[in-house]
Amino acid sequence: MSLNFTHDEVLERLRQIIGKCLMIDPESITEDSYLNDLGAESLDLVDISFSCEDEFNVLLPEKNIFEAGKAFFKEGTLQQDGFLTEEGKKLLKTRMPDFDISMNDGRVSMVEVDRSLLRVGAWVRMILGLLESTPKVCVEECDTPLVRGRPGYMKCPSCQREQEIRSGDSINNEWVQNYYEKEYLPNAVPSEAIRDAIQ
Ligand SMILES: [Zn+2]
Repeated sequence: MSLNFTHDEVLERLRQIIGKCLMIDPESITEDSYLNDLGAESLDLVDISFSCEDEFNVLLPEKNIFEAGKAFFKEGTLQQDGFLTEEGKKLLKTRMPDFDISMNDGRVSMVEVDRSLLRVGAWVRMILGLLESTPKVCVEECDTPLVRGRPGYMKCPSCQREQEIRSGDSINNEWVQNYYEKEYLPNAVPSEAIRDAIQ
């Protein structure tokens, strides 16, 4: 099986997985479907996640990008009273360009953010992003395409060397840290940036 999935291949396989887990016709699932609308409950989401990890050789993040952001941004910077701040919206727009931020006069609640993460299209994008970090070729001289190894690992069928699959949480953390340092801090109101730097 090729490790270089296209967008359409990921979507098609994801539809099969969701259809099987929820016992519904894959034909009824589109990129614009929401998993909760399709009837998925929390245990189904766990089931779908595991199936995706198995199918695509990725490790899905357990925390969303705003939860990951808590390690870098001060409380109140990205969200306040259940809604995204301007900074929060900027981050979301960078991270999820598909997200329609214009609804409700530009007020985006965390409930809507959580819901947007249940969109099938958001899963396709997430899986494609994670796939970029999955090791594909042996780092040794053999240069062989890797196959699935133990859970969490890819394996070289020639020299048997294993390479770890990066977790989605570690990839998210790196993304947020990079965003914080390269996008947020240089553009933050100076007094805020200074305050952040002192803390
Ligand atoms: Zn090898």
